[in-house]
Amino acid sequence: MATAASLYETYNRAPLRFERGEGVWLITENGERYLDFAAGIAVNSLGHAHPHLVEALKAQADKVWHLSNLYEIPGQEELSKRLTEATFADRVFFTNSGAEALECAIKTARRYQYSKGHPERFHIITFEGAFHGRTLATIAAGGQEKYLEGFGPKAPGFDQVPFGDVDALNAAITDATAAILIEPVQGEGGLRPASKEFMKKLREICDEKGLLLILDEVQSGVGRTGKFFAYELAGIKPDIMAIAKGIGGGFPLGACLATEEAASGMKPGTHGTTYGGNPMAMAVGNAVLDVILGEGFLQHVNDVALVFRQGLESLKDRFPDVIEGIRGEGLMLGIKTRVPNVDFVGVARDEHLLTVPAGDNVVRILPPLTVSAEEVRDGLARIEKVAEKLTELKLKKSA
Ligand SMILES: *Cc1c(COP(=O)(O)O)cnc(C)c1O
Repeated sequence: MATAASLYETYNRAPLRFERGEGVWLITENGERYLDFAAGIAVNSLGHAHPHLVEALKAQADKVWHLSNLYEIPGQEELSKRLTEATFADRVFFTNSGAEALECAIKTARRYQYSKGHPERFHIITFEGAFHGRTLATIAAGGQEKYLEGFGPKAPGFDQVPFGDVDALNAAITDATAAILIEPVQGEGGLRPASKEFMKKLREICDEKGLLLILDEVQSGVGRTGKFFAYELAGIKPDIMAIAKGIGGGFPLGACLATEEAASGMKPGTHGTTYGGNPMAMAVGNAVLDVILGEGFLQHVNDVALVFRQGLESLKDRFPDVIEGIRGEGLMLGIKTRVPNVDFVGVARDEHLLTVPAGDNVVRILPPLTVSAEEVRDGLARIEKVAEKLTELKLKKSA
């Protein structure tokens, strides 16, 4: 049997080999079924093997797989039109991943300031606990030592301030500042939503000082929070936004969205990609939007999210030794645990429930947005068992 010995050792992988998926379920080579409330870390927004996505991909596969961006690509025109009609944006650049969408966002902001006669304005203010990807620029943007260590000098032009701290933010703004970059709900950082007031304040500060507001909605976007995008919760609009994960439903797809004004520096030749916006990705992205923007879909997300949230809150009350708090928005949920979060994730896996650890000792729950109320209750019953087991273990240890 093949083993992982030929792979980079960058991942500590769970010993699970999934062969196929059906909706919210993943099925191993041995036929064991797991309730997938990790969804490839918020990627499988419509679950596994969604018939509409499968059909869209197969139909495109019979026509043409790849076309260079040297030619017109109708799928890009359609998807960008739909994204701009449903958001603040006027322009879209397609990528293959979240980090590339962020790279485009950073370049767009710097280029905007440059084209307005301010080449010295290239600094971007970001927030502690942020995660923006693993490229050299995006690890500098995230600013987390654990991702920067050993990779040479941190790329210049990224200044971190504490999450939610207006005074620190104001103090960090200089004549070299181009933009502010924030996740409206921190994902890796531990499911921390920025308050509406803070998001409004960011918009105000940007308007006042001629800065661009960049949102990283790679994880929080495309219906995850119960809104099409999380910025709607705060009633503000960004200038630039990076998206990925859920928009591809499992196909590698990201995008950078911008207003006409913010994108005005991005002239022919300033940026490019080989695969970004490839016809296969466009077919799937458009199919994802057929469902997510379909009538009643976001209402469904809000309805099941409420069931989930209430269930989790009541488990928190019943198992205070294991669960400290519940956080997040919509179906982007976090359980702050009083045991190591990786222990919780491990015991959940024993209960055939997949979850994801996050920073700040949080367990992330990111089910497919298609999850039914009944499947949510199934998940809650498994989480209850996990909390029971971990409470017993804790009692044994302290005895
Ligand atoms: C996952 C993620 C990224 C990076 O996306 P990749 O596709 O892994 O490059 C960036 N920002 C946020 C908020 C994410 O959750």
